[in-house]
Amino acid sequence: MAPSSSPTAMDAQAQRIIDEVVGKSGIPFHARSAYTHATWAKTFSSLPELYIEPETQEEVEQIVKLARLCRRRLTTVGHAHSPSTLTCTSNWMLSLDKMNKILSFDGATGDATMQAGIRLYQLSDELAARGFTMPIMGSVNEQSIAGVISTGTRGSSLKHGLLSESISSLKITLGNGQTVQCSATEDPDLFRAALLSLGALGIITEVTFRAVPAFALRWHQTIDADARILAAWDTTLWTQADFVRVWWLPYTRRAVLWRADAVPQADLDSGRETLRDPPVGYYDGALGYHIYHNLLALSRWVPRIVPWIEWFVFGLQYGFRNGASSTTSAVQPSSKAFWMNCLYSQYVTEWAIPLARGPEALARLGAWLNRLQPGDPGYVNHGIPFSAEGVYVHSPVEVRVCDSRVRTSAARNNRPWLDSTVKDGPTLNINATMYRPYLRDPPGLERWFAGFEWLMRDLGGRPHWAKNFKVAPEELADWYGDDLVQWRRVRDAADPDGLFVGPWHRQHVLDPEAPRYPAEEVESGRVSVGPRTGVTVHGEVQSVKAGEEAVHSRQDSGVSAVL
Ligand SMILES: Cc1cc2nc3c(=O)[nH]c(=O)nc-3n(C[C@H](O)[C@H](O)[C@H](O)COP(=O)(O)OP(=O)(O)OC[C@H]3O[C@@H](n4cnc5c(N)ncnc54)[C@H](O)[C@@H]3O)c2cc1C
Repeated sequence: MAPSSSPTAMDAQAQRIIDEVVGKSGIPFHARSAYTHATWAKTFSSLPELYIEPETQEEVEQIVKLARLCRRRLTTVGHAHSPSTLTCTSNWMLSLDKMNKILSFDGATGDATMQAGIRLYQLSDELAARGFTMPIMGSVNEQSIAGVISTGTRGSSLKHGLLSESISSLKITLGNGQTVQCSATEDPDLFRAALLSLGALGIITEVTFRAVPAFALRWHQTIDADARILAAWDTTLWTQADFVRVWWLPYTRRAVLWRADAVPQADLDSGRETLRDPPVGYYDGALGYHIYHNLLALSRWVPRIVPWIEWFVFGLQYGFRNGASSTTSAVQPSSKAFWMNCLYSQYVTEWAIPLARGPEALARLGAWLNRLQPGDPGYVNHGIPFSAEGVYVHSPVEVRVCDSRVRTSAARNNRPWLDSTVKDGPTLNINATMYRPYLRDPPGLERWFAGFEWLMRDLGGRPHWAKNFKVAPEELADWYGDDLVQWRRVRDAADPDGLFVGPWHRQHVLDPEAPRYPAEEVESGRVSVGPRTGVTVHGEVQSVKAGEEAVHSRQDSGVSAVL
C-alpha cells in the first residue's frame, strides 16, 4: 500500500465478510470510513480504514471476531492525548466514547464499576453527584479511564503512585473475542499486564475503581529563586502538603511551588472554609494566551529571545518578585484544583528518576542550558555530551513526584509489569515540553530532547510510556528485566495473532527480532501533509512470509466457525 493522504477504501472481500457476519448475528456494527485521526497535540495522524464506535459489550466482541476474519489490526483510542504514534493505525480504530456509563456504585466502599470509555471529567461529575471523587488526577481530565491506565498516567503526590492503583478489577476482550475479568486475585498476571497494556492486550471494556469521599483542596502557589525552593528537597519540599508540584524556569533560575492539602467536607459544610477560585492568571486570559502564543511563534525565527519570554510571561503569570508576596491561593473541588492549562500543541518527554537525584538533575540541566563555565554561579559539570549552543527551550520544566510503593507491589499482585516509576523508592517525574506555536515545530527540539534524555538515562531514569522517547531493545530489557518478559508472555497469550499490535509496539516494547504476528500492522510510510495533522503514519498488515495465508483465508472454512 503506497502512502497516500486519502483513506483506504474497504476491499470487497472484507465488506462481504462484514455483511455476512452482521447479517447473521443481528448485532450492530457502528462503523464509518473516511475518518482522520490526529493526536491531541496534532503531532501525528493516521487514516483508519474504519472508525468504529461500539455501544455494547457484544458489539466489541463481534468487532474482534470481524477483525480476525478480515485480517485487520485493531487500535482502541481514548482521547488521543498520547502525543506519539501509539494510537495511529491504517486499519480499524475503535473508540469507546459511547461506552461511558457508570454501571454500579457502592456508597459504603466507594467502588464504582464503569464502562471503560468514560472520560475523567464525566467520571468526576458522576462521582461528585454521589459525594465521591478520584483520589488524585494528572493535569487534565479529558482522557478516558482506560487510556489513562494504559500508559501509566500519574499525578503529583508522595501518597500516590499511578492513577491505576485505584483499580480493583477490569474486564478485557482478548484476541479470541472473549471477554475475561481479572483482578489481583483473579488471573493476577493478566491484571498486572492489563493495568499498563499500551493497548496491546485487548480492549478494556469495564473498570472497577475505588473512589474516595469528595474533598476540596486548599492550595497555595509561590514563585521564588529555585535555590530557595529546592533547598528543602531532602526535608520538607515534597512532604509539606498532600499534593506538591514544582514548575522550574531554567533561564531565570526561578521555580513555582504549588502545594495543596485536602479540606474535609465537614469544614465546607460548617462554613469554616469556603470555596474560592484563584485570580485569573495571565495566559489563562485571552490576551495573555495570544501574546504568549505569538511570542513563541516569533521565537521560531529569533530563538535567543526565549529566555526573555520566560522572564516576561512567567513574571506576568506568577509575579516578578520572588517569595511570599507572590503567593496566590484558592480552595477548589479537587478535580478542579488539579486541572491546569496545558496551552498549545506540544512535544513532551517525561522521565521517572529516583527522587534523591532530583537536585543533581536540575543542577546539571541548568548548567547545560545556560552554558555555564567553571567559576560561574551554579556551575556543575553536566556531563552531557552534546553542545547546548543555539538550543533555547520552552518553560517550565514540570517537576512532580509519586511513590508507587504506597498502594501497589508485586506481592499484592497489583503493580503493573510495565510501571515505569521507581520500584524501590519514591519517584521524581521530570517533564520537558516544547510548544509548537501555530502547529509549527520549534528549532532546537532534537538537541534539547537528546540532551535531556541523555541526562535522564545517566540518572537511572525510565521514560513515561505516553510521551515521546526512543529506546534500544537492550536498554528496554535492562530497564524492565523479568517484568518485561512476563508482560510479553501474558500479551502473547492474550493475543497470539497480534491483532492489537502495531509499529509503535514493535519499536518500543516488543522484541524487534521476534517473528512478526500474522495480524500485526507494520509501518509502510510517513508523510507530512500539513501542520493540522502533523506527520501522517501509514501502515499495513502483511503476510509473515510469502505464501502464508491470511487469517481470514485460514478460517475460510467458516466465518461461522469463529462466531
Ligand atoms: C495536555 C496533556 C496533559 C497530560 N497530563 C498528564 C499528567 O498530568 N500525568 C501523566 O502521567 N500523563 C499526562 N498526560 C498523558 C496522558 O494522560 C496519556 O497520554 C493518556 O494515555 C491519555 O489518555 P487517552 O484517553 O487520551 O488515551 P489515548 O492517548 O487515546 O490512548 C493511550 C493508550 O491507551 C490505549 N487504550 C485506550 N483505550 C483503551 C481501551 N479501552 N482498552 C485498551 N487500551 C486502550 C490506546 O490503545 C493507547 O495505547 C497528558 C497528556 C496531555 C496531552
